Amino acid sequence: MDHTGAFIDTQKIKYTTKETIALFEAVSQKKVRNAVPCSYGQTVTLHQLELEIINSGHVFGSGALYLKDKDVTFLYTGDFNFTDSLTQKAIQTRDCDILVIETTYGRPDFAFPRRDDVYDSIAGWAAKTIMEGGLPVFLLYPVGKAQEVTRLFNLLTSIPVVTHPTITRTNSTVNAMGGDLVFYDLAKEGEELIRSKSCVCLFPNSFNARGLKTVYPDARIATVTGWALNFGRRNADSSFVLSSHADYPQLIQFVKGCHPKKVYTMHGYAEIFANKLKREGIDAAPLC
Ligand SMILES: [Zn+2]
Repeated sequence: MDHTGAFIDTQKIKYTTKETIALFEAVSQKKVRNAVPCSYGQTVTLHQLELEIINSGHVFGSGALYLKDKDVTFLYTGDFNFTDSLTQKAIQTRDCDILVIETTYGRPDFAFPRRDDVYDSIAGWAAKTIMEGGLPVFLLYPVGKAQEVTRLFNLLTSIPVVTHPTITRTNSTVNAMGGDLVFYDLAKEGEELIRSKSCVCLFPNSFNARGLKTVYPDARIATVTGWALNFGRRNADSSFVLSSHADYPQLIQFVKGCHPKKVYTMHGYAEIFANKLKREGIDAAPLC
C-alpha cells in the first residue's frame, strides 16, 4: 500500500503495472480510476521524457523506472530486490548516468542469510510445530511475502496453506494473472484444516500475536521480515529473516553494476549508504 498513494487521487492519470492495479483493488476493495496499465519493457513518453517500466524484483508487478531525457539516462529503483526468490525474478542492472536508489537496508550490518537456507528453516519450523501438536501461524505482508511463503510450502512440503481472507484475495489475484499458488481460505475449507492442526496459517502482519493466541490457543507465531535481523521476534515465538528488499552487499553490487556517474539515495539509511559509496569513489548524495 505504501507504493500506491497516488491511487487515492481519482482525477490524475496514473501509469502503473496492471498487476499493481489488480493487487491494489484486491487489498483495498476499491476501484482504481484513471490508471493506464503498463507492462514491463513498455515505453511511455511524457513531457519529452521517455519512461520504461522494468521489473524491480520487489513484489508481484513492482516496477523500477528507466528514463531518457535527450542524452541523460536515469534509473529510479523504487523498492527492489537483487536476488531471485520463489516468486520474483531479481531486478537487472542497467547502465545509467543517474541512479536514484532505495536504501532501506543500506547499513553494512544488514546482510541477509542465503534465501534457500531461510526457506528450509521456515519449512522445518512449521513441520516441527505440527509434530508437537501446535498450529504454525505466520504474520507477513499480504502482498509479496504471503505469495512467497505459500509457494515455499507448496514446493518444499505437502503441508496445506490456510490463508486469511486478505491473503486469499492477493494470492487469488496472482493466480488470475498466471500464478499457480495452492491455498485454502480461512473462512471456507481452511476452518477444518485448522481444527485438525495439520496446516500452516498465513495472517497479515497487521494482526497482533497475542490477540491471535486468544483465538487459537495452540498457535505458535512466527514473523517473516528482513527486520527480524535487527529487531528479533518481538512478541512472536519465532522469526525468519526474509526480505523483499536488497540487503547492503546487494545494494553495493547493484550500484557498481549500473556504472552511474551520480547516485542519489533514499529511504532508510540514505546518508550512511551515500557516505559508503563516496568512500568507494562513487559520487553520491542522500535525497531524503
Ligand atoms: Zn515496498
